[in-house]
Amino acid sequence: MIQIPVEFDDIAGGAKGYYSPGEHRIAIKAGMAADQTAKTLVHEFTHSLLHNVDSDNKGKTRGQIEAEAEAEGTAFVVASYFGLDTSNYSFGYVAGWASQDGGTELVRSIGTTIQRTAHQVIAALEAYLHPDSKASA
Ligand SMILES: [Zn+2]
Repeated sequence: MIQIPVEFDDIAGGAKGYYSPGEHRIAIKAGMAADQTAKTLVHEFTHSLLHNVDSDNKGKTRGQIEAEAEAEGTAFVVASYFGLDTSNYSFGYVAGWASQDGGTELVRSIGTTIQRTAHQVIAALEAYLHPDSKASA
């Protein structure tokens, strides 16, 4: 069972949402299109899974670029699974990091994390959407 408070809010600036590790809650910008809202929710949810204060990554020095690549990559895989086309947005986002020094290596190194996390999120959503067809994890 995965639970975290989510609230819709007027978020200043260009951000579509954020995850607060200190408070362990998610805020999503109010009034966005449904697909953008869903994808942002998965992005922030991934942060809550991978980048919370109790996660396995706690002791490591995690670059923000790496954390964002994990969150956005996971959001893209999950959104694609559920038929949401976010490729324009996500690919531009990821391409921005890939073009930096060591970017290709970065994308390669986080691929396994993205795959594992996307599987976890999809399983949780499937269990929520179809509670009778799947045993809960
Ligand atoms: Zn993020």
